[in-house]
Amino acid sequence: MSATVEKHPFQAEVNEVLSLVVNSLYSHREVFLRELISNAADALDQLNFRALTQHDLLGDDKELRIELIRDEKAHTLTIRDNGVGMTRDELIGHLGTIARSGSKKLMQSLSAEQKKDLTLIGQFGVGFYSAFLVADTVTVVSRKAGSDETWVWESRAQGDFEIRGGHRATRGTDVILHLKQDAQDYAKEWPVREVVHKYSDYVRWPIRMQVERGKDDATTTEWQTLNQARALWTRPKSEVEPQQYEEFYKSLSHDWHQPLAWTHFKVEGAHELTGLLFLPEKAPFDLVERRKSGVRLFVKRVFIMDDAQEIVPEWLRFVRGVVDSEDLPLNVSREILQKDATTRFIRKQVVAKTLTLLEELAAEGETEREVDGEKQKVRRYELFWTEFGRLLKEGVYHDLEARDRLAALLRFRSSRDDGWHGLKDYVARMPADQKAIYYTAADSLAVAKASPHIEALQKRGFEVLLMTDAIDEWIVDALREFGEKPLVSAAKGALDLPETEADKQRKEAREKELQPLLERVQQALADQVKAVRVTDRLTDSPACLVSDEHGMSARQERVLREAGHDVPKQKRILELNPGHPVVQKLQAITDQARFADWTALLHDQALLAEGALPADPAAFSRRLAALMAGG
Ligand code: ADP
Repeated sequence: MSATVEKHPFQAEVNEVLSLVVNSLYSHREVFLRELISNAADALDQLNFRALTQHDLLGDDKELRIELIRDEKAHTLTIRDNGVGMTRDELIGHLGTIARSGSKKLMQSLSAEQKKDLTLIGQFGVGFYSAFLVADTVTVVSRKAGSDETWVWESRAQGDFEIRGGHRATRGTDVILHLKQDAQDYAKEWPVREVVHKYSDYVRWPIRMQVERGKDDATTTEWQTLNQARALWTRPKSEVEPQQYEEFYKSLSHDWHQPLAWTHFKVEGAHELTGLLFLPEKAPFDLVERRKSGVRLFVKRVFIMDDAQEIVPEWLRFVRGVVDSEDLPLNVSREILQKDATTRFIRKQVVAKTLTLLEELAAEGETEREVDGEKQKVRRYELFWTEFGRLLKEGVYHDLEARDRLAALLRFRSSRDDGWHGLKDYVARMPADQKAIYYTAADSLAVAKASPHIEALQKRGFEVLLMTDAIDEWIVDALREFGEKPLVSAAKGALDLPETEADKQRKEAREKELQPLLERVQQALADQVKAVRVTDRLTDSPACLVSDEHGMSARQERVLREAGHDVPKQKRILELNPGHPVVQKLQAITDQARFADWTALLHDQALLAEGALPADPAAFSRRLAALMAGG
């Protein structure tokens, strides 16, 4: 083995993360132990999994465990595991770079102020680097299972680390912390014991430590197991404290926040299954692009895989947790999972339990909770919705089986007030003469709220849902109705508002009277609109543009085009408000050029009112200026 010492620089982002961790997590520094124990437990899981197929991998060293070795004189604390270990290349790769894709980009985009924010730091999965919260030098001695080479990684966190050959009697990893002056208590029994109890009691492998017993000259040392060493999810709910669930979640997800909620369940019968699923409080920065599932699969307490996509539909990728099956074979592979009927059963359970949890949250009133460092009265479901609502919408679109339950969980802004509103409450509030659920979509809430399309609806006291998410209109198209009430766009088709016989006759008379005008406008705008008609949609605005009842809205077209799709531009229908003075004046214009200018203006201002730009903004300005100048 090489006796030489190689120096390697850290990847630039590691340096940044290191200094962030050390500077901003100082007051939480005891979490280093949770992070290192959690890495050790993962290394044991990995080994256990590999030993399923490589029977000789464990050798004589069959009792998998984590040991905490304190040396008060040398001021060190060592976290030792007899897990899977790391090769030379793995030491360099895992402990010298930040693996998660996107982290680098995120790091570069953060401002100095943002970098102090724990939320964002938590996104990097800084696990191992938290060692430097308490140590000025960290030495990692590791021997990969099945190899006879031992390698040593050492760093003072000053821009680089060293790699050299070393010795270790058996497989596994030692993380040796040379404790900082002000952290030397972590070489003492009680502080370590306390931290393990607080943060790592749920760890499924035994965590052992040598303790002294007896008095003065009659002391003896003995190994003691500090934790219950039973997988948390196998314990009865009544025996698990909320804090233990929270710590378990944090170590599982590397999230620095408390989980928002969790569900712990056992299914018995033809299939047996235990699950512990968590809803995070904050979404990861790459929520939309990230396709990985956050649920770990265990079979009979043996870790099988991290990113078990087969048992969690993609839209549920915000869920973190574990599922432990009694029925799958221990040697289960991705291929088997994809075919096995048990997989389908597990997946159904994961969906059903998560939906139940969400429904419970949605029904819950305000609770007190610390959000961004401040105690606040909040509705947990609204916190969830603002972070993850987008994924439930994906679910509505893709998951037919879950669609109805998901539809009831959707939340929208509305013309009623500034809060979030569900479809169920909307329907319950509908006046007797309102036949449909109305919505309008725009790029911003302000534009949606001021949209001319909803004028008449509002005048009648009909609530309108305001949608601003690009995906919303597709969700509504997929749903079509809720609670037997059709979902109707305020900007499509005819609104079919309830009217009295007298109203109807008045409207027909007006339409007849305006027919020549409609034809003239249609001629003038032949290139831009496919029809011109009288509307009862408007009260204050002179005109608006609408799509066919089953056609795409202009915004849908634009969203598709921006996403690179080749969508032909569809002409829309121009609707005129017969009661508006502009429309009445228009009737009186005989000069052809002037009439053309007015109709062009009418058309372009209808576009502007819905947040779109006229096709020729310069021409629009010119006409407007001329009009203002009295032209
Ligand atoms: P994370 O655990 O989020 O991946 P860490 O920085 O804590 O990030 O660890 C980086 C990687 O180093 C781990 O994913 C794992 O591959 C490896 N590692 C860390 N500690 C150990 C250990 N005790 N045994 C084996 N591998 C380890």
